[in-house]
Amino acid sequence: GKPVCECNSCFKGPDCSDPIPNCEVDADSGDPMFLEPFWLKHAASSSLVLPGWHRMSYEFEGGSLISEELKNHIRRLHSVVGNANTDGRFIIFGAGATQLLNAAVHALSSDHDGDAPSSSPSRVVASIPYYPVYREQTEFFKSEAYRFHGDTMSMKNEMDYLSSNYIELVTSPNNPDGQLKKAVLGGASVKTIHDLAYYWPHFTAIPAPADEDLMIFTVSKLTGHAGSRFGWAIVKDEAIYQRMSTYMSLSTYGVPRETQLRVLKLLKAVLEGEGKEMFEFGYKTMANRWRKLRKIFSASRRFSLQDLDHQYCSFSKKIRGPSPAFAWMKCEREEDKECFQVVKSTANVSGRHGSLFGSESRYVRLSLVKSQDDFNLLLERMEALVQQEPHNK
Ligand code: PMP
Repeated sequence: GKPVCECNSCFKGPDCSDPIPNCEVDADSGDPMFLEPFWLKHAASSSLVLPGWHRMSYEFEGGSLISEELKNHIRRLHSVVGNANTDGRFIIFGAGATQLLNAAVHALSSDHDGDAPSSSPSRVVASIPYYPVYREQTEFFKSEAYRFHGDTMSMKNEMDYLSSNYIELVTSPNNPDGQLKKAVLGGASVKTIHDLAYYWPHFTAIPAPADEDLMIFTVSKLTGHAGSRFGWAIVKDEAIYQRMSTYMSLSTYGVPRETQLRVLKLLKAVLEGEGKEMFEFGYKTMANRWRKLRKIFSASRRFSLQDLDHQYCSFSKKIRGPSPAFAWMKCEREEDKECFQVVKSTANVSGRHGSLFGSESRYVRLSLVKSQDDFNLLLERMEALVQQEPHNK
């Protein structure tokens, strides 16, 4: 059993099973608690005890900030899952994908373009709908080396190869809509960052190993340990890897040794039986949630969900339906064009506003990766919302 210290916001009681009536359901956060039951089952093999004398030093033997053993486990995991090619690539760790994203933008920006010095900042672009942090983070750091420049599609037409360098962020599967995406821009002035946070069998079929120049992954969406703050980048070019390493050295002097130790322990548990058990649990949980949600929305003319294709998955060796982390919900009626408000005031569910992703406010993102209790409550509210439609009465 799980010792309960704190209930989720909509539950109370000694074992947190009493729902609080009329509680606002938080479907905003993408906190991946859906994997918690797997870790409760594997509590013993994933536990860690750290004596006070352990790993006190700044560095590992030889002066590295990175555990070689953890790096080898990451390579092994990618080869078992078949989702990324790590052969001959450099691997660097960061405090979550969040830190690595900025390290990568920094490393690819014009600032460093020794051969062709460029006075104008690199233009950071992404395709709508995009993960809001790309814009928020790039704007927050106010660098002279790069600026957020909005939507990739609009750049495609007006790209001025002579005056600017571009950094395109590609998220696959995409947050918020779960689509498998490819880079849109191309050519010598374009550098690409592939954010593959969700490229794991819980969320998508794995058609082939990703083989891009710069790929970013995170343990947050892999094992659910978002609080450990651990991500890694797989980098082809040595000079880019060095720039990212300098960024890490100067910003935090590496990822905490405790975090590296914990992630190693977790990956060892995942890799028992070649990862089958965790990915099977993750996929089954997500696919089940989608089945229930789709059933509810199929009765609606007022609301719809994104459509995604079935694909062959080389990991499960089956044709598989998609099971993404988020529902990208659309309000179809003109009078519902403030969809976030409609869902909030009618269903008492707080999603994430479509405009944050660069989209119309007709869209709302709903998180499907939280705990089972949270999801069940969301489902209940959505069902009630759809049942209010006149043709359903
Ligand atoms: N990229 C994407 C597309 C994400 O959705 C998230 C988390 N929501 C991140 C990066 C950040 O992940 P981390 O917890 O590793 O910082």
